[in-house]
Amino acid sequence: MSILPFDDRDGVIWFNGKTVPWRDAQTHVMTHGLHYGSCVFEGERVYGGHIFKLREHTERLFHSARVMGFEIPFSQDEIDAVCEELVVAQNIGDGYLRPVAWRGSEMMAVSAQQARIHVAIATWPWPSYFTPEAQLKGIRLAMAKWARPAPNTAPTNSKAAGLYMICTLSKHAAEMQGYDDALMLDYRGRIAEATGANIFLVQKGVLHTPDPDCFLDGITRRSVIDLARKRSIEVVERAIMPKELADTDEVFLTGTAVEVTPVSEIGDHRFEIGEVCRQMIEDYAALVHSHRKATASAA
Ligand code: PMP
Repeated sequence: MSILPFDDRDGVIWFNGKTVPWRDAQTHVMTHGLHYGSCVFEGERVYGGHIFKLREHTERLFHSARVMGFEIPFSQDEIDAVCEELVVAQNIGDGYLRPVAWRGSEMMAVSAQQARIHVAIATWPWPSYFTPEAQLKGIRLAMAKWARPAPNTAPTNSKAAGLYMICTLSKHAAEMQGYDDALMLDYRGRIAEATGANIFLVQKGVLHTPDPDCFLDGITRRSVIDLARKRSIEVVERAIMPKELADTDEVFLTGTAVEVTPVSEIGDHRFEIGEVCRQMIEDYAALVHSHRKATASAA
């Protein structure tokens, strides 16, 4: 399979206030963000030309930057407007949107108080990843050997690039063993999340999901909690230990990229793709596409 490299594409990228040709959106090798991980980003989905939960993602980008000790040199309204303009300029129907902000190359040391803050936004087409049949088969998770760190050992409430080191390591290890992804526990041994998605367990018709006290409180996670409560499905946010997987009927992941994806297997545990999971897949698809329909019928 040939993959179109992400630095060699047609189109434009918004870079520090200007739209530049895609291939010219370059940064120097002496960039603080590259050497010391002072970088934050977002991942957003575009459905039918509409950016789903744009404002929530922009707010989280600004929050992540503040947690990392820097301010994004644009307003949230400016970033929202740029995202929307870029989706039109790139002619994106169903796609992905990636804002990223990082410390520049003015200073090359741990301390970089005066380094310039750069911001870039790129968007590219990304049709639905799974066919409905493939999605309903479920994915298989290995147990990660890396644990989500404690909030006093890493900026865990930021979508900071550095936190993904252990995600890439865990996902690569899982893929090498023939799994699709990995389940990460936290520093206390509790179930935390997958490498780029939150996790829900269904036990006797009730949805359980870990408290997001040391990992990302996903925007999809919050949408799914609302959707479940609208269906009068009880949702409990609590500490969940891995031994509970033995008493769990269904498991699914949530995230901008994976949407609602059933899990058929975690290590030695097997799960059915059941009622609650199917309902959440359906309700989430209806939610993300409701804006598309509104836009289409208004046009
Ligand atoms: N956890 C991690 C580590 C992630 O990268 C993501 C994807 N951004 C999520 C959870 C899910 O977050 P969201 O629903 O906001 O995409």
